[in-house]
Amino acid sequence: MADLSISSNRSGLSRRAALRLAGAGTGGMLAATFGLVPTRAEAAGAGAVVGGAAVVPSGVGGVHYVPRAGWGADESWRINRRTGQPWPVEFAPGQVITVHHTAIPVNDADPAASVRAIYRGHTKDRGWADIGYHLLIDNAGAVYEGRRSGADTVPVYEADGRAVTGAHVQGNNAGNIGVALMGDLRTRPPTPQARRTLALVLLALAGRHQLDPTGMATYTNPSSGARRQIPTISGHRDWMGTACPGDALFALLPGLRRDVAVALGRPLPPQPLVPPRSPVAPGAQSLLAAAP
Ligand SMILES: [Zn+2]
Repeated sequence: MADLSISSNRSGLSRRAALRLAGAGTGGMLAATFGLVPTRAEAAGAGAVVGGAAVVPSGVGGVHYVPRAGWGADESWRINRRTGQPWPVEFAPGQVITVHHTAIPVNDADPAASVRAIYRGHTKDRGWADIGYHLLIDNAGAVYEGRRSGADTVPVYEADGRAVTGAHVQGNNAGNIGVALMGDLRTRPPTPQARRTLALVLLALAGRHQLDPTGMATYTNPSSGARRQIPTISGHRDWMGTACPGDALFALLPGLRRDVAVALGRPLPPQPLVPPRSPVAPGAQSLLAAAP
């Protein structure tokens, strides 16, 4: 838990802004740590599938997630069938975050089944070592641990703090943390719950890696040494020609970046000096400002 948490002292996290982002209403006290923690049932060792687990602003604060055992990951699928051994697992310091959609329908009644289907597709069908994404988010706003990062209870990272190398941006995976919203988001925007959870996950990751959420990064592939200028919080299509993460989700990224920046207490880039063409609802301003 501590591994993905961000400290208000180190990151300059604005407690008030983070609480607003978390939707914490009356009585919600955000602790000094703010990260991904297992759902209560999982933490208690219940082992049950916890579909529909939601963001729970609580006494400890943070984004609860469903571990691999919780959504029913069959760990034998990580075995290389030719060698009979598990695929090698690589780790690298985190540099950037990439947002995806899974582009396939979600079983809202049993979203864990949808996570298993993605896992099966990536391993059994495509022959990958594991599920490609680090984290997945369903329509109810529940977070699922994706690619396995070790025996501890912290998703994404191994004990030394490096991120497990996923498989979500071809040729640029090491140090690139992949977060996927489940569903086809080409025309349908994320549910409010999924959007809010995504903001919280991006906040936790950006805070941990001290990223400027509205800025650019020079991503360096640790294997090839190749460099790319890329938004610290990118969409898959920023890297390559793909519809991912879908027009409807991609259009929300500027607003998400600004939300994270506000929560981290970072200065915002100046707004374009173009007035909106028509009256807009409060809250839509940031999206309009970033629209092409
Ligand atoms: Zn993608």
